[in-house]
Amino acid sequence: MKRIAIIGGGIAGLSAAYELAFQQRAGAPIEFVLFDAASRLGGTVETVRRDGFVIECGPDSWVTEKPWARDLALELGLEGELVPSRDDRRKTYLVQGRALTAMPDGMRMMVPVQWAGVLDSPLFSWQAKLAYLREPKLAEQLKTSALDAASSSRDESVRDFVFRHFGSEVADTIAAPLLAGVFGGDIASLSARAVLPAFVALEREHGSLVLGLRQRRQAGDAPAAIFTTLRHGLAGLVEGMESHIPASGIQRGMVVASIERTGEGWVVHRASAPGASHLASQTFDAVLVATPAKTTAKLFGAIDERIGELLPQQSSSAIVVALAFSADQASVMRIPRGFGFLVPQTAAQYGPYQPISDDDMEAIARRALLACTFVDQKFPQRAPENSVLLRAFFGGPSVAPLLTESDATLLKLAQTTLGRIVGKLQEPSIALVRRWPDSLPLYEVGHLNRMAELDVRMSQLPHVRLIGNAYRGVGLPDLIHSGRTTARELVAGLIGS
Ligand SMILES: Cc1cc2nc3c(=O)[nH]c(=O)nc-3n(C[C@H](O)[C@H](O)[C@H](O)COP(=O)(O)OP(=O)(O)OC[C@H]3O[C@@H](n4cnc5c(N)ncnc54)[C@H](O)[C@@H]3O)c2cc1C
Repeated sequence: MKRIAIIGGGIAGLSAAYELAFQQRAGAPIEFVLFDAASRLGGTVETVRRDGFVIECGPDSWVTEKPWARDLALELGLEGELVPSRDDRRKTYLVQGRALTAMPDGMRMMVPVQWAGVLDSPLFSWQAKLAYLREPKLAEQLKTSALDAASSSRDESVRDFVFRHFGSEVADTIAAPLLAGVFGGDIASLSARAVLPAFVALEREHGSLVLGLRQRRQAGDAPAAIFTTLRHGLAGLVEGMESHIPASGIQRGMVVASIERTGEGWVVHRASAPGASHLASQTFDAVLVATPAKTTAKLFGAIDERIGELLPQQSSSAIVVALAFSADQASVMRIPRGFGFLVPQTAAQYGPYQPISDDDMEAIARRALLACTFVDQKFPQRAPENSVLLRAFFGGPSVAPLLTESDATLLKLAQTTLGRIVGKLQEPSIALVRRWPDSLPLYEVGHLNRMAELDVRMSQLPHVRLIGNAYRGVGLPDLIHSGRTTARELVAGLIGS
């Protein structure tokens, strides 16, 4: 019998454990234990269900185009739970000053799939509109430079990539806030190859992103809805997978302090916890490490320091504040129609950069507010009829001082900051705050080359693999896919050896 440890029970580690349980039931001679520091599995995936509201504290949906989260939901018998985003009502606003300006219809992120709406949008200056119109004419030139880059594995920043196609205004006003919501980082340091692989591939094939997307659209190659979620929340995936794992295979509240290589395999040492009944150390034949990048670097510090150097060195923190309003409360508020708004972090938004004093929490919160989702409008059945559910997302470089503030302060700051943009808010009937420190690793320029070196380094260590959001994708579908595939490969390697 081969013994496998999984360290970290976020969506990646849990998907691996679920796959191992599946293999076990199919007769594979394995035993496994999933260790998680927290008292609850799922990591950043957490749903609170209260008084008819379904409140996501971390991710709220997945990108429909990638099949693996949906496949998992179907396997778990959650077919009836699958809910597409209400794309017929899709309207996303950008904050300009205190006003909200709608993004034009027919945009795929920062790329227009149709001109109607874009050319008369007040969001863009005439220079940006000209840049949009010019991009298809540069197709050959863009294709040539893309192919050069591909053959040399050359990377560039997301900002440079978008700039080459559409100029600086589109990069800073549209691409930056769209990606800040996902990666929380500065597009001038994020890697185009790692963060925008689909657009990089499109450039290679078509040169022009505008022409490439149009051709795909004409070929009927677009998903029905952009986002998919579960009716009762994404925790359904966590609960579903957990129910397939034997209780003996899960140890919650277990902080792993270090791992050590021995002649026969790996020893997992837990952090000392007075009075804890768990064994202090356990030996395994193989280990799957599914912890956040910083922890992973620490775990490998004594084994191979270079591994820590290759992992993302920067990560961004997030704070989510959810505010739920009953139908009565909502009736006196004026939330615009749409999915929500994004806040560009540009000088146009805030004026020339001015340092903010450390105790001016309101100014810090204004700068750290990246987005707000009008949850009750984005997905059906997230809130009782006529009530309102808002989710503010704070992140980026300004968020750090907010992480140590109390829930009550963060709640007040969210109300004031959102109130400036959508009008005064009532006292919410439910409010909750979640802090996610260092939860989003930044894939900086050169990331994929570092990942290739990491693969080589890891292949020199027997029966140990890395999974999670530090490597090749931060979204749920990618993490589910890599967690399951890696677990399968690990078992094949172990049993074959
Ligand atoms: C606010 C927010 C919103 C997001 N929205 C979306 C979205 O809408 N759609 C989407 O696809 N993605 C979204 N993401 C990204 C996605 O949620 C994450 O990338 C993903 O959940 C990370 O999963 P993971 O398993 O890699 O890590 P985590 O969820 O961070 O899990 C790591 C686990 O390791 C455990 N751990 C840490 N240290 C130790 C230790 N020493 N010993 C034992 N256990 C340890 C932790 O307790 C945790 O459970 C969002 C992320 C955030 C923060």
